[in-house]
Amino acid sequence: MTAESSAMRAPVPATAERESPELAIATAFFDAAAERLGLPDHERELLWRPELELEVRIPIELRSGVVRVYSGFRVQHNGSRGPFKGGLRFHPDVDRWEVRALASLMTWKTAIASVPYGGAKGGIDCAPEELETADLETLTRTYMNKVESILGATRDIMAPDVGTSARMMGWLMDQYSISRGFEPAIVTGKPVELGGSLGRESATGRGVAYMLECAAKDAGRDVGELRIALQGYGNVGRWAAEGLAARGARIVAVEDAAGAVHAEHGLDVRALTAHVAEAGTVAGFPGGERIAHEELLACACDAFVPAALGGMIDEDAARLLRCSILVEGANGPTTPAAEADLLDRGVLVIPDVMANVGGVVVSYFEWVQNLQHFQWSAEDVDQRLRERIAAVYHDVCAQRAVAGGTSSLRLAAYELALSRVLTAAKQRGYTSG
Ligand code: GLU
Repeated sequence: MTAESSAMRAPVPATAERESPELAIATAFFDAAAERLGLPDHERELLWRPELELEVRIPIELRSGVVRVYSGFRVQHNGSRGPFKGGLRFHPDVDRWEVRALASLMTWKTAIASVPYGGAKGGIDCAPEELETADLETLTRTYMNKVESILGATRDIMAPDVGTSARMMGWLMDQYSISRGFEPAIVTGKPVELGGSLGRESATGRGVAYMLECAAKDAGRDVGELRIALQGYGNVGRWAAEGLAARGARIVAVEDAAGAVHAEHGLDVRALTAHVAEAGTVAGFPGGERIAHEELLACACDAFVPAALGGMIDEDAARLLRCSILVEGANGPTTPAAEADLLDRGVLVIPDVMANVGGVVVSYFEWVQNLQHFQWSAEDVDQRLRERIAAVYHDVCAQRAVAGGTSSLRLAAYELALSRVLTAAKQRGYTSG
């Protein structure tokens, strides 16, 4: 057994307040909406502070003999509207500040999507692509053992996020059932054979495509005439590209962590997906020319879809963008200063809390199917998803109209979310015990 010390990052002091990009973004937009709604301090406190935070240490001896001590998190932000709901992220940057921010985004998202949940998020500070499958399984199962006491099908329901997939959701469900009995509704985004919903894997990306369709229609345009550039080709970017290409849109450029490709006449998305399945990246795709990161940002397109990590569209990136619509597939991709710059230039910014709700909407459908022990058809799921996305677009635009029609969609979405959560919190009453 060897203790790995040199490769480890310095532990974050327990009292340090790190400004993760996601937390800075979530705080700024929350404050702006709370200000506009004129919320008193106690209501801001009620809506902003997480209800419960759990941080656990997970020491693992990897198959290589190296011992690593990972940190795991689960933050339950607000449960006024229903059980806590939100994904589990595996990424080296995960820490309590990032998870806290992402948990709050889930509270707003579930409220905006009108699904009967609160918001939560979990994570482990690991790089899943560097771990052997057996190590990943041990890590996932040990995490479940350590956080299990606060979960439950009517308490807190996990789902995939960056770095996790259906496979890990299967492990989580299995581990939970060892002590608690068979309970598929404990986690969504499971493999279909274990009670997962048809259409869940593609739901976030398809939701992004449907949302863009709604916005284009509203602007008197057909989504099929749009040229699209995407940053990120993981579970969100890939399915958004496929959904948009299926509606006739031209996918002109795509970037992931290893590089970017461009084709003025449009990339063949199916061939690109097949290339990524083989090569693990869009880089080197023969159906397009390689471009630099700045060229990707500056490419001529109608809609730009950030579908990677938080904070990637900062002011420098925003200055380069030439799109007229920015649709946030990722959580927290745009900094407040970058958004202000884009809005000044007349760019329509469709924020994460409405643009990427497709994932949690189909998670909700999966949970309902699990509770009913029944499976809906793929067409049924897709039809309901599409209707839900149209309703979200309508509700946020209606909120913006009430507020005078001048605010950003994000501000309108936050106002809607804060109001809905606050109403539920008040109806529950302030005394507990
Ligand atoms: N991780 C996804 C999100 O950020 C899905 C969450 C869920 O389905 O619970 O929206």
